[in-house]
Amino acid sequence: MSQEWNIRSRGHVCSFCGKPLVDRAPVVSALKETSGGYERFDAHPECWKTAERDWTPFSQWDGVYFAPAKEEKKEALKKEDAGELLRKLMTLDDPAMKNVVYVLAVMLERSKILVERDSKEQEDGSIRRVYEDRKQGDTFVILDPRLRLENIGEVQQQVVALLSGTKTLGEVAGEEDAAEAEAQAAEEAQTETPGGDAAESETA
Ligand SMILES: [Zn+2]
Repeated sequence: MSQEWNIRSRGHVCSFCGKPLVDRAPVVSALKETSGGYERFDAHPECWKTAERDWTPFSQWDGVYFAPAKEEKKEALKKEDAGELLRKLMTLDDPAMKNVVYVLAVMLERSKILVERDSKEQEDGSIRRVYEDRKQGDTFVILDPRLRLENIGEVQQQVVALLSGTKTLGEVAGEEDAAEAEAQAAEEAQTETPGGDAAESETA
């Protein structure tokens, strides 16, 4: 279960040659699926090309490495809070929060904090999306719960409530559990009605 929630930090040295990555220079990043989750690789593009590997990446992308900067903190305090909330939620690893985690990630993507690097459809039809923090380079492997359009606004309100401190994580998790039970009951009641795949109507 914990494989659905994964944060992997970007390395500051090349995974292959061990030398430092160069500030503002291209970097190749990859995730390798392991029994315990994901292992992350960051490499000089040349090293990635020439290194011998006996494995296929779960995901691989080209990015730009930014050396950690300390002065950037002042600006965009609010956005950083959202990023911290995402990290906290992913560490908590609570399945009841999967919608909140996903909507928060999409909000961070829209405000250009995160960038989607890859998406993989799983055998069970779920989708795992790989997001990368543009500046810090951390990777988040997030389950796309394929939310229905009409539910997104509600989840967004929960995210805003968490960010503004008007609701606690426990309160939101309780609401999500209740909503899930309600949705399941509604789905069972609707099994007679033929209709298309509701998941198709999700927003991109
Ligand atoms: Zn290297």
